[in-house]
Amino acid sequence: YEKRNIALEIPVWDADLCTQCGKCVLVCPHSAIRARAFAEDAAKDAPPSFKHVPAKSKDLPAGTHISYQTAPEDCTGCGDCVEACPIHDKSNVSRRAVNMAAVGPLRDQERENFAFFLTLPEFDRSLIKHGTIPGSMVLDPLFEFSGACAGCGETPYIRLATQLFGDRMLIANATGCSSIYGGNLPSTPYTVNGAGRGPAWSNSLFEDNAEFGLGMRLAADQLMAYAKQLVQEQATDLGGDLAEALVNADQREEAGIVEQRGRVALLREKLATSTHPRAKTLAPVAEWLIRRSVWIIGGDGWAYDIGYGGLDHVLALPYDVNILVLDTEVYSNTGGQTSKATPLGAVAKFSAGGKATAKKDLAKLASDYGHVYVATVAYGAKDVQTLRVFHEAEAYAGPSLIVAYSPCIAHGYDMLYNQRQQELAVKSGHWPLVRFDPRLAETGANPFKLDSAAPSQPIKTFMESETRFAMLARSHPEAAQRFLEQAQRDAEQRFKAYQDMALRQDRPEGEGLAAGGHGVWTPGTQQQFNPGARCGTSPPRPA
Ligand code: SF4
Ligand code: SF4
Ligand code: SF4
Repeated sequence: YEKRNIALEIPVWDADLCTQCGKCVLVCPHSAIRARAFAEDAAKDAPPSFKHVPAKSKDLPAGTHISYQTAPEDCTGCGDCVEACPIHDKSNVSRRAVNMAAVGPLRDQERENFAFFLTLPEFDRSLIKHGTIPGSMVLDPLFEFSGACAGCGETPYIRLATQLFGDRMLIANATGCSSIYGGNLPSTPYTVNGAGRGPAWSNSLFEDNAEFGLGMRLAADQLMAYAKQLVQEQATDLGGDLAEALVNADQREEAGIVEQRGRVALLREKLATSTHPRAKTLAPVAEWLIRRSVWIIGGDGWAYDIGYGGLDHVLALPYDVNILVLDTEVYSNTGGQTSKATPLGAVAKFSAGGKATAKKDLAKLASDYGHVYVATVAYGAKDVQTLRVFHEAEAYAGPSLIVAYSPCIAHGYDMLYNQRQQELAVKSGHWPLVRFDPRLAETGANPFKLDSAAPSQPIKTFMESETRFAMLARSHPEAAQRFLEQAQRDAEQRFKAYQDMALRQDRPEGEGLAAGGHGVWTPGTQQQFNPGARCGTSPPRPA
């Protein structure tokens, strides 16, 4: 039991104003405001102050209600949810559909309401649209109440991944902030759903986390292959149809995984009474017939610097792993040292006079392989693109790399403005949003997509709004001006280069094109494997 009770103010939901867009839930770094859909009947014994209204979504069955509820003792009072709320009261524009209020008079009441909220039955996930923000934010988070700083820009990405895939995630976490708030033992922010399923998590070193996660993938694949072999050996006893379905199940989407869980439950029943001599060998590995979603998570200090060799090694292989880089552009947990993700002109430890070289373009380097799904995201700038990227990355049966812009206290502004700074980073050209999807290359389409518009703000506006850049103007004004001018040129050139890549013509389908080096599509070459044609496991181990 660990309740920090650190918020002086907590958000209070205005059910009448709310459009149920889900943005407050999406941005919350601590999963302390959350949504749940339920049949109206389920709330008949609710405390008198518990708020719920009919769900506006036409996708949900008639009679479905929804509640947006705060966990008053877990909220940090950062205010990000209120800042993200797009709905203002027309009669008082300073009021939104969620507003901060002093916690004192609310704590007991909201504690009771949150406790009731948790007793509501979990809504059928198959009835919820996972591809929309309002829908996906009704999915329960399996990462909650971490010890991250108030307003942290990393944790919403992890929470999002657990909402979408948490019941089947294996997580390899590099040392750094995400391993500290991810495993501040004896408590853990990773949790389980009503069926007792949740992410399996472990931490490894800076220098070997990608390999650690690859090991999880190989182990899961090996166990699945072994279980399939045993199923085939016992097909006559188990029933040919069941054996066939277990071995060839399409598990790329959640619906397929749910079906496979049903088959595995049936398999267990049959094994319990089976007289086959290998039945007892199959029973303990039957669980591995269900596809696991492997996530390799860490910060930029890991991915760009100390663990880069391993990261590159894993990207160069064809295995099905999802790599999430929480890019704060500095070593956050160890006190703000420069990393290769630190931008030009930013002040950090070992760069007291401003970082003299540009940030490494990790996404572009990874996309040069051609077989890696790559994307950059910033949920505060374009949340729908972030959600889409998480789905696309997970569905891709090869390596995926998501480079996630993550505001941090080390950037030097009030974290209340976390989302505003993400938007400014994108609008100034500091953080373009891109996607590279190898599946598109297989159809002859251009795999590179530019998801953000041409910069509409000068980079100066962005840099002057963050202390990590602005402090240089006071200590080294000439250098600051020089870096500013160079950063502006870099942003323009980078956007132009991305735009050129995105505007390349699609090739006619069937020409057998594949993505080659440096974003060039090489005629006449075939990819080594076809991710779309496989399900369940990674491509076979190369000979
Ligand atoms: S104030 Fe911050 S921690 Fe509290 S619910 Fe809102 S976003 Fe979450
Ligand atoms: S962000 Fe505002 S409008 Fe959207 S769900 Fe939250 S309270 Fe409602
Ligand atoms: S130091 Fe930065 S990345 Fe680490 S928990 Fe705090 S805000 Fe998040």
